Amino acid sequence: MAKALLLIDIQNGFCPGGNLPVADGDIVVPIANSLMESGHYDLIVASQDWHPADHGSFASQHPGKAPFDMGELSGQPQVMWPDHCVQGTPDAAFHPELLTAKINYVQKKGQNPAVDSYSAFRDNDKAALTGLAAYLVSKDVTELDIMGLATDYCVKFSALDAVDMLPGVKVRLIADGCRGIDPKGVEEAIEAMREAGVDIIESSGITL
Ligand SMILES: [Zn+2]
Repeated sequence: MAKALLLIDIQNGFCPGGNLPVADGDIVVPIANSLMESGHYDLIVASQDWHPADHGSFASQHPGKAPFDMGELSGQPQVMWPDHCVQGTPDAAFHPELLTAKINYVQKKGQNPAVDSYSAFRDNDKAALTGLAAYLVSKDVTELDIMGLATDYCVKFSALDAVDMLPGVKVRLIADGCRGIDPKGVEEAIEAMREAGVDIIESSGITL
């Protein structure tokens, strides 16, 4: 029986000043820090988008495509993103104010140039697992709270996969600990998570 906090992609690249900034993305940092310091969690896990420089989700790899166009990657529809979170660059580093010393386990994702990985649990084609689900099972996690960036992409797909891949685990979304790219997409993402059985909560409701 363990309670885990999963921080999704709280990296420079998704914060103001980054290559794929989410509006007010850095607002989630103090929320993550206070939850990590609260003593509520037995285990703290963070995911990190970690792309090779030639990743196929980058518009720069597709002649004629601009960032945020729709394109294709390995035959699947794919949003063409600006180059972001390239391995080993400051853009891929965690936000400098995030209390990374409190993080027990970091799950990198998105290393395969031929497929994107919004979810911390598996690639978008659902073929390759990151190993995070097995790790959480090995730690006897029974409650998983998720927050981070961006609500309508990596947070959403991580939460949906958590419900799907961790039967019996209570999954909650900390709504005020998330920021998204597209306001309409955020609404739809929250609804999709709720329908899948994710409890939508606020950080203020988490108490010892
Ligand atoms: Zn990415």
